[in-house]
Amino acid sequence: MRSVNALISEINQAEKILVCGHIMPDGDCISSVLSLYMGLRSLRKRVIPAVDWKISMEYYNFPHTGEIVRYSRNFELPDLMIVVDSSSPDRIGGFQELLKAGVRTAVIDHHKTNTYFGNVNWVSPGYSSTAQMVFRLLQIMDVSFDQELALLNYIGIATDTGFFRYTNVDSSVFEDAACLVKYGADPAFVARVILENRKLEEFYLERDALENLEVRCSGKFAYSYLEKENFEKYGLSEEEFSGFVSELRSIASVEVAMFASESKKGEAHVSLRSKRYFDVSEVAKAFGGGGHERAAGFTLTYDGVLPEALEEVTRFIIERLEEK
Ligand code: 5GP
Ligand code: MN
Ligand code: MN
Repeated sequence: MRSVNALISEINQAEKILVCGHIMPDGDCISSVLSLYMGLRSLRKRVIPAVDWKISMEYYNFPHTGEIVRYSRNFELPDLMIVVDSSSPDRIGGFQELLKAGVRTAVIDHHKTNTYFGNVNWVSPGYSSTAQMVFRLLQIMDVSFDQELALLNYIGIATDTGFFRYTNVDSSVFEDAACLVKYGADPAFVARVILENRKLEEFYLERDALENLEVRCSGKFAYSYLEKENFEKYGLSEEEFSGFVSELRSIASVEVAMFASESKKGEAHVSLRSKRYFDVSEVAKAFGGGGHERAAGFTLTYDGVLPEALEEVTRFIIERLEEK
């Protein structure tokens, strides 16, 4: 509660506020940025929504997504930067320059691997999503929710809980989501935009990913990968293919799932998921990334080819999985 009060006092003192999400933005990131943007704007703050990365096309079905700006040099410094859903400074891309320039920074996040890099930090891993924290904050600040704000805020709660399926779902998630639905958020619309909007090419990529599928540890560990040329073949970027790691986790025997996508030669994003007991955030942390116990990730850099570079990671996971 103390850190929420410190955050509110920072907001009250600021006039121009930058709300910044993380690179490779997901639904929680975009939802937190946009709902905080619209919420603070209704309190007559000058607010700029920011994410230093390309935003996946389906999110443009939601209002105000087109107003999100990327970093550019000569960025006019705000009084306050609020960083959402980001566990460490490297997650905000070019906006790290504002940290270096000494801009006052507040962090709102639910990752347990958060490094507390703000002047004030409201970090609470008990929340399902950063969007749920934004909801609580806007409620405390007496922001009135119209249909649009409710929709924007709902998106992150839905996506970060896998549409109310994951272990981060508790009664508070349903209570807050129910409030947002009462205020006018349309759950079926959000589900349709996010889940039923896939390109045919994604299925072809899935076929390639299935060809690379490996299963280890008596079925407890499943992993796969795609290289740059796979994506090029179908004209898709690696951001347009994000759900496959959850598909791997859905195999009955699987406890840990891993999926790596090569963004350029020598660099891949690795996504990790677990089902019941294995803490994948420890693996991600060991390789320079972060996340949650059941969902984490990191960037892998290497000299040779991706499948060989992955061997170190798979060995690391197998050793720990066999201990359990
Ligand atoms: P995803 O696999 O969907 O990219 O990410 C799963 C979770 O891990 C998310 O909560 C995300 O914030 C976190 N994560 C993914 N990649 C990285 C990374 O490179 N660094 C850190 N710190 N966290 C990451
Ligand atoms: Mn996120
Ligand atoms: Mn999140």
